[in-house]
Amino acid sequence: MQNSEIKTTCSYCGVGCGIIVTNDAKNGVTIKGDKDHPVNRGMLCSKGMNLHYVANDTSDRILYPEMRWSKSHPMERVSWDTALDRAAAVFSSIIKKHGPDSVGFYVSGQCLTEEYYLVNKLVKGFLKTNNIDTNSRLCMSSAVVGYKKTFGEDSVPIAYDDIELADTFLITGANPAWCHPILFRRLEQHKEKNPKVKVIVIDPRKTDTAVAADLHLQITPGTDIILYHAMAKRIIEKGYSDIEFIKKHTENYNLYKDLVLATSLDKASKMCGIPISQIELAVDMIGKSEGFMSLWAMGLNQSAVGVDKNTALLNLSLLTGHVGKPGSGPFSLTGQPNAMGGREVGGMANLLAVHKDLANPEHRREVADFWGVDEISEKPGLTATEMFGALESGKMKAIWIICTNPLVSLPDSRRVEKALKNAKFVVVQEISHNADTAKHADLLLPAAGWLEKEGTMTNSERRISYLPKGINAPGEALSDVEILLRFAKKMNFNGFNFNNTEEVYKEYCQMTRNTNMDISYLNYNRLKNEGTFQWPVPDYGHPGTPRLFTDKKFYTPSQKAIFNIPTALENTSEEPNDQFPFILTTGRIRDQWHTMTKTGKVSRLMTHIPSPFLEINPIDAYKSSIKNGDIVVVTSTKGNVRVKAKVTDLIKEGVVFLPMHWGKQLDNDLNRTNNVTNTIVDPISKEPDFKYTIVSVAKY
Ligand code: SF4
Repeated sequence: MQNSEIKTTCSYCGVGCGIIVTNDAKNGVTIKGDKDHPVNRGMLCSKGMNLHYVANDTSDRILYPEMRWSKSHPMERVSWDTALDRAAAVFSSIIKKHGPDSVGFYVSGQCLTEEYYLVNKLVKGFLKTNNIDTNSRLCMSSAVVGYKKTFGEDSVPIAYDDIELADTFLITGANPAWCHPILFRRLEQHKEKNPKVKVIVIDPRKTDTAVAADLHLQITPGTDIILYHAMAKRIIEKGYSDIEFIKKHTENYNLYKDLVLATSLDKASKMCGIPISQIELAVDMIGKSEGFMSLWAMGLNQSAVGVDKNTALLNLSLLTGHVGKPGSGPFSLTGQPNAMGGREVGGMANLLAVHKDLANPEHRREVADFWGVDEISEKPGLTATEMFGALESGKMKAIWIICTNPLVSLPDSRRVEKALKNAKFVVVQEISHNADTAKHADLLLPAAGWLEKEGTMTNSERRISYLPKGINAPGEALSDVEILLRFAKKMNFNGFNFNNTEEVYKEYCQMTRNTNMDISYLNYNRLKNEGTFQWPVPDYGHPGTPRLFTDKKFYTPSQKAIFNIPTALENTSEEPNDQFPFILTTGRIRDQWHTMTKTGKVSRLMTHIPSPFLEINPIDAYKSSIKNGDIVVVTSTKGNVRVKAKVTDLIKEGVVFLPMHWGKQLDNDLNRTNNVTNTIVDPISKEPDFKYTIVSVAKY
């Protein structure tokens, strides 16, 4: 691309903003928001508007394959052929000796749909193991299970355009003002024009989102389920429930009703640390609304009871009949740009492509037939944290990591470090030498990044965008699709005779035919010429589907939505005690993305918050003789972190907060947040409990 404009999509969060890119010899890549894009209407947040720095700065890029012949040898430059011959030889020999489940792939919600599809086909169809999981396990897996249990399938029912049609928003366990800024800007603009719009925020921290709310319920971490039940009780008692919708379109209501009516408001108030009057106010706002939207993210998902939190929240939409109508419905906010696309192609260890289930023999048969393989193994694959546990114990011997930095992002980083050291063979397919995990690679494969390859992504509202290639990748870096195809060829696998990325997409689209997410009539031409589409797109003239369930027919066998009863009414994380008296919660800051391999090299973004910190309430700080700016040590059973204290009443007493991003060494100690996070996961979704680790805090 020289001196011409192309339209593409931001590579950061799941909002999926449209970007116009220009590239010329003098300025390199420059970008601006796409005014015609249905999502952002020209707006970009600080991360998006600085993406050109990332595209133009190739100083940290991995330029050619590197390999070491044994752990004691140094890394050396090799050709692509040598690199992939070795990968094929090592994977074949390990599988021959220890079986297919001795290898695994760990991929990313930043992979494009075609890459995600291809690697799943390669691993589940041809390597004959289901050991492929994704960092979306750390992000959306609780929401996926919640949707499946409630609606019968992993289906976000709503669109961003519903924001401008809603009058009450319940934002819970999310800080969209910082983490989904353009979506939040649309909400703010809607509220500015319509003063009757109400925003309720549930969060232990007084975030920028909470500051903008009409009502902030400053909840004690882990008590969400009882809060939603208390709200449901009052919704029923005050006559706000939609009886007709419940009777015609739901199952299991009576059990749910009995459960929530037995909830003590007084007990809920005490457990949640929220006055009854505030719960009542929230109930009135929801009960009187004509368009009620709930929005949530990691505060619900990253929990030992993440699935139950999700279904308990989804129950509120069913109870009030706010599903499948304008301005109404539940809306999970995805953190990564293509977490949704990954879910569509079965990018997790327990899923198959096109929303089929690994546990279902018919589904396995259908997928095996489509791919032309004998069978798909019935054994569930190892999930993200399980995979690293298996490497640590020696059960798994080799791992191939694509586009993610688990040494910083997974819980209990020391364990991940041990796992990577213990692995016989580690392949890291990556763009940047800044990725901490790259230092553990036996084989380092240079991948093309954003703008350097083509493919598609799906944002939080099921909107599929085509991303064209705009610039060449530096050095010998190749697209992930090309790397995977070359590896498949080295392994002599049939079924990978694709000439380009478009052919991969074509195959995937055909696989969706006659499913609830049918995009079999979608193709690159339509995406290039007509713009973005929300699935399903079930015929050639179809414009896409902004809103699901408008006919109130859900994807369950009875076509009714299901009120789920939580398996755990209360949080199951380890409770604070004398040794570890604080609850640590972790999260993002406004201008950084994940483990900072991209945003960390943009000096403009580093000015917002240049170093890691621990947010602590003034009362807790006073009791521990900690002053603002003091260096403190945060300790858990897993390890410790040393950062500056930020004493603020924006955080609830008894709770402390660390940003998730940093991973680099500081003064011989580590400031990596996940040194201290616990390894508890939700029993169904296997999503880690990042929002609840018990810790102590002491002045250094
Ligand atoms: Fe990119 Fe998300 Fe910001 Fe939009 S809101 S510009 S998608 S980071």
